[in-house]
Amino acid sequence: MDTIVMKFGGSSVADNIRLNIVAEKIIELYNKENNVVVVVSAQGKTTDNLIKEAGELSSRPSDREMDMLLSSGEQITIAKLSILLNRLGYKAISLTGWQAGILTNNTNQDAIIENINTDRINKELNDRKIVVVAGFQGINENTDITTLGRGGSDTTAVAIAAALKAKHCYIFSDVDGVYTTDPNKVTVAKKLESLSYKEMLDISSEGAKVLHNRCVEIAERYNIPIITKSTFNNKPGTVIDDRIEGSTVKSIVKNDDITFISAKCEKYTLELFDKIYRTLLENGIQVKNLINNSTYSLDLSFYIKSSMFNKFAYLLETDLSMLDCTYYNVTRISIIGHGIMNNNNILTDTLDIINNNKCEILSIDINEMKIAIILKNVIPNSVLEQLHSKLIK
Ligand code: ASP
Ligand code: MG
Repeated sequence: MDTIVMKFGGSSVADNIRLNIVAEKIIELYNKENNVVVVVSAQGKTTDNLIKEAGELSSRPSDREMDMLLSSGEQITIAKLSILLNRLGYKAISLTGWQAGILTNNTNQDAIIENINTDRINKELNDRKIVVVAGFQGINENTDITTLGRGGSDTTAVAIAAALKAKHCYIFSDVDGVYTTDPNKVTVAKKLESLSYKEMLDISSEGAKVLHNRCVEIAERYNIPIITKSTFNNKPGTVIDDRIEGSTVKSIVKNDDITFISAKCEKYTLELFDKIYRTLLENGIQVKNLINNSTYSLDLSFYIKSSMFNKFAYLLETDLSMLDCTYYNVTRISIIGHGIMNNNNILTDTLDIINNNKCEILSIDINEMKIAIILKNVIPNSVLEQLHSKLIK
C-alpha cells in the first residue's frame, strides 16, 4: 500500500462547501487503497486576522504567545475536516503538530523541523484511518508550541512525506500549478508541466509565493516528488522532481519586495560591523549582498525585504541609531532554468530589453541556472511581459 500526503491551503478549506470538495478528493485517493495523510492550513484569512487582532492588543507581542495564537487556526481546520470525514463514513483522526510528533528547534515564529516521530501517525494509518495533521506547527524541547513561518504548512506536508517515505506529496491550492511567471503580472503566463527541485527552489527563494522554500529543500534532500494542483479542477498540475531538462528558461520571477539600503558611520570597528550584522539577524532581518564600500569608514550597502522595513526602521531608532541610512525600493528580476549560463543569447536578449526600457542596472548575478538582475527603482510589469515573450519558448 502506498502512502500519499495531501496538503490543502487556506483558500481550499475556507468554508464548509470547500471542505466538502476537499473531503471528496481525500476519499477518492483513500478508496484507491492508499494510506492517506492530510495536512491543512488555517481556513481562509484566519492567520492574517489573528495577527491583526494580536496587533490591537500589543505592538510587540511575544513570539511565543504569537505561536500559541496562530497555531489555533490550523487546529480548527483539522477538527472540522475530521468531523466531516467521519460523518461521510470514513475513519479519520485529527492530530496537532505535537501529537503528530513534529519536533522543532526553539525559534518561535520561524521554527525549523528537527525530527518527526512517526509512531502515532503510523499507528493510526495501520488502523486504516485518514490522518489529518495541523500544518505550520510543532513543539520544541520545552514543550512549547512553535510555528514554521508564514506559508509553513507546505513544509509540514513535505517533511511528513519524507519521514513516512511517501510516494509523493500533493500540494493543493487555488492555483493550477507553477507558472512561467506570475499570472497576476503577465496574463499570458503558462503553467509548467514539470520542474526540477533546484529550479523550484530558485523560484520560491526569489520571492514567488508558490511554495514555502524550506519544503522544496526537504523534497530535494529526500527525493519526494511534489505535485502542485488546483483543488477546484482536475487539470494535471506541475510535478517537481529530480528530472532535469537543460538550457531553457523555465520561469521569470519579478520581486518588488526589496529595499536597497546604504548605511554609513564615521567610526569603523570590527565590533561595530559584527553588532550591525547580529542585530539584523536576531531581529529576523535577512540581508543580501552585503558590501562595505570603503576601507577606512563604514559604508555598507545591502538589500532587505521591504516587508521587513518597519522592523529595520525601529532598529535605526534604537540599537542601530549610530547609522546614517538612505534607502529606496528596487526590483529584482530572476531568470531561472538549468544550463542557461551556457546560452549567451539569454543574457544579451535580457540586457537589450532592459536597456530599451531605460532601466538602470545595480547588479547582475549569474550562475549555472539563474541570472538575477537588480534594477534601480520598481519597474513596471510591462518589462516582465517583454522578457517573458522573448525568453520563454
Ligand atoms: N496558516 C499559516 C499562514 O497563513 C500557514 C500556512 O497557511 O501554510 O501562513
Ligand atoms: Mg501557502
